[in-house]
Amino acid sequence: MEISIRKSSDESNHICDSYRDGKWIIYHCKSCPDYERRISWETGAVTVKGSNPSIQHCGQHIPAEYMHALTASN
Ligand SMILES: [Zn+2]
Repeated sequence: MEISIRKSSDESNHICDSYRDGKWIIYHCKSCPDYERRISWETGAVTVKGSNPSIQHCGQHIPAEYMHALTASN
């Protein structure tokens, strides 16, 4: 899994805020109230609501412990 963070003035590229809710990391976009992306750091499952295909959403950060959970191979 790759998380890319791009600094861009492109208005179609939105940076999301992330927070943890139980087994999920949830991303919300300040500009898109309907947008929500959830990632299970346990299984890697992703669900997205309110996604607009013309807008690219990037996660702002994932705490180190969850990155470890996402990338651990053993
Ligand atoms: Zn957005």
